[in-house]
Amino acid sequence: ATSHKAERTALGPRLVKNAAYTFVRPQPFRKSELIGVSKAALKDLAIDPASVDTEDFKKTVAGEQIITIDEDKEPGDNDVYPWAQCYGGYQFGSWAGQLGDGRAISLFEANNPSSGKRYEIQLKGAGRTPYSRFADGKAVVRSSIREFVVSEALNALGIPTTRALSLTLGPEEHVRREMTEPAAMVARFAETWIRIGTFNLPRSRGDRDMVRKLADYVAEEVFPGWESLPAQVPSTDEKDVVGLQGGIPKDEIQGAGENAENRYARLFREVARRNAKTVAHWQAYAFTNGVLNTDNTSIYGLSVDFGPFAFLDNFDPSYTPNHDDHMLRYAYKNQPSIIWWNLVRLAESFGEIIGAGPWCDDQEFVEQGVRKEKADELIKRAETIIEKVGEEYKAVFMAEYKRLMTARLGLKQSKQSDFDELYSELLDTLEALELDFNHTFRRLSYIKTDEIDTDEKRKEIAGRFFHHEGLSGLAGSESDARERVGKWLAKYRERVLEDWPNAPEEERLNAMKAVNPKFIPRSWILDELIDRVEKKGEREVLDRVMDMALAPFNEEWGWNREEEERFCGDVPKYQRAMQCSCSS
Ligand code: AMP
Ligand code: MG
Ligand code: MG
Repeated sequence: ATSHKAERTALGPRLVKNAAYTFVRPQPFRKSELIGVSKAALKDLAIDPASVDTEDFKKTVAGEQIITIDEDKEPGDNDVYPWAQCYGGYQFGSWAGQLGDGRAISLFEANNPSSGKRYEIQLKGAGRTPYSRFADGKAVVRSSIREFVVSEALNALGIPTTRALSLTLGPEEHVRREMTEPAAMVARFAETWIRIGTFNLPRSRGDRDMVRKLADYVAEEVFPGWESLPAQVPSTDEKDVVGLQGGIPKDEIQGAGENAENRYARLFREVARRNAKTVAHWQAYAFTNGVLNTDNTSIYGLSVDFGPFAFLDNFDPSYTPNHDDHMLRYAYKNQPSIIWWNLVRLAESFGEIIGAGPWCDDQEFVEQGVRKEKADELIKRAETIIEKVGEEYKAVFMAEYKRLMTARLGLKQSKQSDFDELYSELLDTLEALELDFNHTFRRLSYIKTDEIDTDEKRKEIAGRFFHHEGLSGLAGSESDARERVGKWLAKYRERVLEDWPNAPEEERLNAMKAVNPKFIPRSWILDELIDRVEKKGEREVLDRVMDMALAPFNEEWGWNREEEERFCGDVPKYQRAMQCSCSS
């Protein structure tokens, strides 16, 4: 272990071949201060909340204590030794080569005995690894606060995501970014940290063995096993969605016969289906990741890597939180198609294990002694699989998105016309009038049908959806806006009454409040939080904001009503749609 440590400090950028990870030890801070722990994470990891105050806990989440290391043994001899993963990625559409965990080090895996879930716990900002390239392996306080809060907020919203357990400050570290800043470390966890980029890298090196081993590992260890992967034709719901009439042909990619190609195609389908559902959640709650490179796209369909992410404030489909994303590649409206683009890169990396593919040019086949005709046939076959899975991806996405939006609108049935008319008219209105997306749904969750049963009442209530300073100049006159929102409310009311003919309004409104959050960690709130914690030395505010993030559908949190309402209220005019350049 000693020689290993010595080697660590001498590391420069290094290509790591024939390996999916490297053993490496975290580098502790000179001084550390644990400032945040997620109660939800403690529960999901089955950690006794009382242990949070122990030195064991604090030292473990700060990388000061590696529970299972035996100093006399070499890495690999022990049951567990910390490791950093090797992966590559397509960044902004171009192949970027080897990336890897440049500042994340996994500590161990833990099973929760009651949920049966297994998580990999890792530290972000734990120092250099062979994958740090020219960077320092550290994380600054601002990006760590953002990741800590948003991971847990997304989870509380029901959005699949990597999680955060704790936030530790390193006040005496000097991290050089635009300015010198103190450091922080987040202990985070996930069912897996494997990404599409994990497959892209060995594929780029022609390491087919590694691709196959990794795919087997994912199917057998990350997912519950080959038999758990989808063999069935899609659900009725999905089949209703235009574009997937009749589902996937039986003999093509179902598990029939269970030959190897079928198996890996099913693995690809599972990854695609999971990601389709996750993007549907992002779109339904207006979350934008901001950097959807293939190294930031989870094989498990988790939201992962929280750099310049943001929730939309006003509804603006072209919004990207990434200041450097001039092409709008990662804008809100492009997320579903970008994730599919990434999934195609995964299919290519799977290569011949799903039956050849467009990446294998004929020459490559010929070299391997495969006849030209056979090669053509295999390529055709893989293309068909990708095309079919593409349809399935779209269908799963649409079915999930509809399900979520139907619930957010407080409807019981999902009709095609809700989508084509009611919902798209609402989106058009929000966009045209520059209104807040998530606030609109929460505000709808208080309106009884008899409060909007006349034109007059509807025009009056329309004002609830406007910003405190009134409408922006671009949005036209206020009376036109009231008219427009009023008209929509009339349609909406009719539709509500159809689904809830004599039901108690309370039941409907409570159901709506349970899916329409009152609190969302918007960029302006995170900025204020960072300022108060980092610059002003406040601590309690972090716990309070975490309480809100962990219970976003609550009406109140028993903190300070005024502060709570401010964080749940109108986004301050000049802090809407902020962008982040995030040298994190
Ligand atoms: P990201 O843009 O966050 O997906 O990061 C891309 C790559 O840069 C990953 O391999 C990261 O591990 C690496 N990276 C980002 N910041 C640092 C840092 N401060 N030190 C070392 N590696 C980093
Ligand atoms: Mg990343
Ligand atoms: Mg990152």
